[in-house]
Amino acid sequence: MNNELYEKTVHCPVCDRDFTTQKVRTSAIRVENRDEDFCPYYKSQNPLFYSVFVCPHCGYAALEGDFSRIGEREKEKIKETISPKWRPRSYDGERTIEDALEVYKLALLCSQVIGASESTIGKICLRLAWLHRYLGDEKEKDFIKFAVKAFHKAYTTERLDEDQNDMVIILYLLGELNRRVGNYKDAIKWFDKALREPSIKKKRHIELKAREQWSFTREEYRKQKSESVDN
Ligand SMILES: [Zn+2]
Repeated sequence: MNNELYEKTVHCPVCDRDFTTQKVRTSAIRVENRDEDFCPYYKSQNPLFYSVFVCPHCGYAALEGDFSRIGEREKEKIKETISPKWRPRSYDGERTIEDALEVYKLALLCSQVIGASESTIGKICLRLAWLHRYLGDEKEKDFIKFAVKAFHKAYTTERLDEDQNDMVIILYLLGELNRRVGNYKDAIKWFDKALREPSIKKKRHIELKAREQWSFTREEYRKQKSESVDN
């Protein structure tokens, strides 16, 4: 077993049974770089691969931080919709990127079945986009578009709390993710909104990034417009 990993025992709130899963030791995590949408690159094992817990017994899957926070009605939905079709299998052990794609897709499915918040759905879609980016495949763009849709809904319909789903971060991501799929006009609008949000003053690094990406996107937009005039 890889010594950057350790075993954790998790209790499943849906079927009431225990299972084990691997986690990356905090002391082993080495971040090499991050993209402008925070996509991380690691020299060590990638902790993102392990931050979805999947119950091997009933098929319930969720982001680690949300796993135990499931209500009674949602548990029933998993039991009715996911468990009957679940072929018992375990994601314990070292995970490949293909395993990671599977566990995030399971988490996405469960989050849709239980009607999770749009910010949670957006977060899962963004991570699926990153996994496809690691592989260099085009599906990245599809998941970016899903994430944009979910974050947009989260912004307009959900109360975003200060720490977890911080409004400024969602506004900034709506800018950056729109930019990545070539929607420059929307990207500029969202960067503008982020910069006008008073709480951005408390997040200096986001403010700087938003300014940088705002002017970079305006350049890209200008180029796009002049190209369309030339053609
Ligand atoms: Zn379970």
